[in-house]
Amino acid sequence: MSMAGLFEFARKDVNLQEKLPTKLLRDLHSNFILQYERDKNGYHYIMAEHLRVSGIYWCANAMDLTKQLSQMSADEIVQYVLSCRNSDGGYGPAPGHDSHLLHTLCAVQTLIIFDSLQKADSNSICDYVKKLQNEDGSFCGDLSGEVDTRFTLCSLATCHLLGNLSTLNIDTAVNFLLRCYNSDGGFGTRPGSESHAGQVYCCVGALAIAGRLDSISRDRTAEWLAFRQCDSGGLNGRPEKLPDVCYSWWVLASLAILGRLDFIDQSAMKKFIYACQDDETGGFADRPGDCADPFHTVFGIAALSLFGDDSLEQVDPIFCMSKKCLGSKQIEMF
Ligand SMILES: [Zn+2]
Repeated sequence: MSMAGLFEFARKDVNLQEKLPTKLLRDLHSNFILQYERDKNGYHYIMAEHLRVSGIYWCANAMDLTKQLSQMSADEIVQYVLSCRNSDGGYGPAPGHDSHLLHTLCAVQTLIIFDSLQKADSNSICDYVKKLQNEDGSFCGDLSGEVDTRFTLCSLATCHLLGNLSTLNIDTAVNFLLRCYNSDGGFGTRPGSESHAGQVYCCVGALAIAGRLDSISRDRTAEWLAFRQCDSGGLNGRPEKLPDVCYSWWVLASLAILGRLDFIDQSAMKKFIYACQDDETGGFADRPGDCADPFHTVFGIAALSLFGDDSLEQVDPIFCMSKKCLGSKQIEMF
């Protein structure tokens, strides 16, 4: 790498200017989210059809974590989510779209948030997930056959939340995850792939659900995660990338699952997350000054909840939902 390259590497970060928010603007965020719910014919709503059920989960979860869920139209949302169910037992992002594990998990999570899980056919959902597990323990996201450790978390989380984890082959699933464990302490999408914070979250979460966290070195993984913190306090997803609020969640939640939240500078981290809020429209952006969206909003709120904030519901680090709505579905980690 040239000297110029090194210099740029050292500078890959953002500046937190003085005029950026320095505390949580909770009520602005519920207004921001509610606009998405109201504006059904809006540009964003139409554009997001390919990920709509996931979008509904982000919005409902943000409202639940900010203790504002009662402002949403629960019945309408639950009916919409149920209408995304396909005959294979899985859920697509919108009615008439093919099933995918990502949307199936989001559908289950949304139904739990609205206390309506009993309206879903648990057995057919678990059958759908089971069929996507491969011989080597990995999971495909859908019939296209793409394998990724993200889908292992989706599968284990979905079946756990439905109270039927044993329908999957957990031993081979764990073996596959451990083949994706790198010597630097991180995890990749598949065996031999580079470490990435999003994948660490998926693999650590899946191992926690499987009750197999003792198969990895917590400290080595936590150290790799701690190196994601930039001088601004924000966290990036892998070396040489800019910090981003969604990685605050993935890195922080992984550290929380590992019992190592103290490996990072928490007050610097909070300062970065606060600075990513839009103090006019509400919502969080990926980094200060960018455009706010529901995805970064829910993960910004969830990250702040992990640090403890009385104005927010306590979030569960594995499932990214309030502990209150999970109830007895929470996993005993230590
Ligand atoms: Zn992001």
